[in-house]
Amino acid sequence: MKPLAPPPARRYFVETWGCQMNELDSQRMAGLLMRQGILPTRDPRQADLILLNSCSVREKAAQKAYSRLGEYRLLKAERPGLRIGLCGCVAQQEGERALERSRGLDFVLGPARVGELAALLPRIQAGERVIATGFPEEREYDFDAVAREGAFKGMVTIIEGCDKRCTFCIVPTTRGPERCRPLAEVVAEVRHLVEFGFHEIELLGQTVNHWREPGGDADFADLLDAVAPLPGLRRLRFVTSYPRDFTPRMVERYALYANLCDYLHLPVQSGSDAVLRRMGRGYAVADYLDLLGLLRATRPSIAISTDLIVGFPGESDSDFEATLTLVERARFSALFAFRYSPRPGTAAPRLDGAVPTPVAEERLRILLARQNEVQAELNRELAGREMEVLITGWGREPGRLEGRTSCHRIVHFEAAAGTAPAPGELVTVRIHRGLPHSLLGEQIAAPAGAGLGARERGTGRLPVVA
Ligand code: SF4
Repeated sequence: MKPLAPPPARRYFVETWGCQMNELDSQRMAGLLMRQGILPTRDPRQADLILLNSCSVREKAAQKAYSRLGEYRLLKAERPGLRIGLCGCVAQQEGERALERSRGLDFVLGPARVGELAALLPRIQAGERVIATGFPEEREYDFDAVAREGAFKGMVTIIEGCDKRCTFCIVPTTRGPERCRPLAEVVAEVRHLVEFGFHEIELLGQTVNHWREPGGDADFADLLDAVAPLPGLRRLRFVTSYPRDFTPRMVERYALYANLCDYLHLPVQSGSDAVLRRMGRGYAVADYLDLLGLLRATRPSIAISTDLIVGFPGESDSDFEATLTLVERARFSALFAFRYSPRPGTAAPRLDGAVPTPVAEERLRILLARQNEVQAELNRELAGREMEVLITGWGREPGRLEGRTSCHRIVHFEAAAGTAPAPGELVTVRIHRGLPHSLLGEQIAAPAGAGLGARERGTGRLPVVA
């Protein structure tokens, strides 16, 4: 008798928007599904389960998830068993409303409930429309089950949620109150990733530098003291830092640990004190510049990137001029700038002085143009330097590769003759040219370390808000 063919493997497809926290949550869900024998597919038409991991930090991002949901819903006609889930911040924000709004949606999974996906699957597959939102005290987090993407960077959440109340931000609603992971757990996860072969670790949190040991006294500087010296850890990053929470002890860590990357993402949001007050940020531009001065005195090579919002309610021409002045003075290595987007449940939409859309758009254009000049200048200054690059992918032409410097700049470079370096490896590159958004160069030494050789997905995510 002919042996029975095994049933075809079930497949999942996940689409992710937003910040690194969402990216990691997608990796967590992927890991949980693979443990159930459900395999990934790059083609949603082949999927039995589609996960839309959404972002609600700006209205446009939230709309994208819904419009994609409309497209995927049509696939159900061909695959009646297909289940579609809305995950991430829009899921938390919308809850039951999402199920009412979209007939094709099977379940809603908030960011604090990601660890429950496997347990919920039987109910979902049986056809129940499941809602799992809110912020339970006990949460599943099995770091061993995370399907890490790419060999070059392992992400580790150290703090979830946010207790601040910036008037424009929806994160405290969608990600809930602050919740720190114990130091021992963080150290164990980082050690696990380094032993697995990751050269670079990125610590994540909406306000990553506000980490505190639950029930203890240790702060983020102490956490860096525990993590940075771990054997084999070549690069350590963290995102996103809140300026007011950055203490001199934390700055000192840049003098102590060479593997702390030459890069800090430090959102300022506006260059005007009046706007910062209306945003409820709790610092003035002078405080921010003092912090930059201290960081650069401690680590002269550090590159600082930032987030800026233009067109915030009440932003006058002179407020905007102040933002341009800050961009000139601070000399950011990169800038994530956005037009203000009113979010439900936040305080800012109630402020007067709405800025007309065309004015805000013009300000954004001017700001980005000014930043481009600064960036091009800073990048040109790097020509002739030798920089360590972590390879993140292959370039379009044979022999060309792409990677990131410790200061988080993208480098396109030619491999050294007779070598075949692969993603995940660290190499030394001589920079020939600096462009506004990248560097060009050539490899000058043999690979400094062996990576896992896997290919990077290369998503260019938004930073986590702070
Ligand atoms: S902008 Fe950052 S610090 Fe402010 S509420 Fe949002 S997540 Fe918290």
